[in-house]
Amino acid sequence: MHLKPYIFSDIISTLTLQRSQRKVYKISELHDLDTRENLLILRFDVENSPEVALKFAKKLHEIDFPATFYFHTRRNVFIPDIMLEIQSLNHEVGFHYECLDRCQGDFSAARKLFLKEVSQFRKVGIDIKTVCSHSELFLPKNGYLLNNELIMEYPELIKEADLLGEAYFLVRKFKMIHARDTFVRIFSLYNQIDQTSLDQGLHILLHSHRWRNNFMQSMYYSVKDIRQAWSNIKKGKREYDLYSID
Ligand SMILES: [Zn+2]
Repeated sequence: MHLKPYIFSDIISTLTLQRSQRKVYKISELHDLDTRENLLILRFDVENSPEVALKFAKKLHEIDFPATFYFHTRRNVFIPDIMLEIQSLNHEVGFHYECLDRCQGDFSAARKLFLKEVSQFRKVGIDIKTVCSHSELFLPKNGYLLNNELIMEYPELIKEADLLGEAYFLVRKFKMIHARDTFVRIFSLYNQIDQTSLDQGLHILLHSHRWRNNFMQSMYYSVKDIRQAWSNIKKGKREYDLYSID
């Protein structure tokens, strides 16, 4: 079968097969796990169109495949009804943080923002256990490279926010194969999944909004991402429309 990039039904068939062969965990469960044999982690970074994340969540629930979905606090992503429904389908919902980006590299301000945003998840009823840093394409960085440097600077922040961990750091100790749907890696995604032996852990990262029903729709959302990256270069910054609880 020839599998096409960013087509929803194709990735669901692949995931269904993987589910039948491996042991699936949510990212927070890695905290107390010590085997990497047969291990399968499915992570979604929800960057926009949360309704597509919900579509994945429902489909995966049908095949008993728990996944972990990381949501931004951006207004078009942080939709409590959708997040709660995903959580109710036995998936984990966490925070896709970009606090250093939003505070232009001011670590102390980013630390405060992080705590405030984690509590925002709890206020709407999300049982948040882990967070995962976002990488904004071509956004100029001021004194840091990655948003997760916030956790490296303040390692106690995870405990202080009553969390179990940060996805990148939790995954690291299992030395898994990382298969992801980013622009260049998408072309090897299916091969990488197929070729990972069962004694090796497998970590699949998908950006839910790119996975659509047909090629034109998928391309539209991929081109939109490239345009945002281009705007980040041109403006040297990005504007955020954020969810506000009050
Ligand atoms: Zn992201």
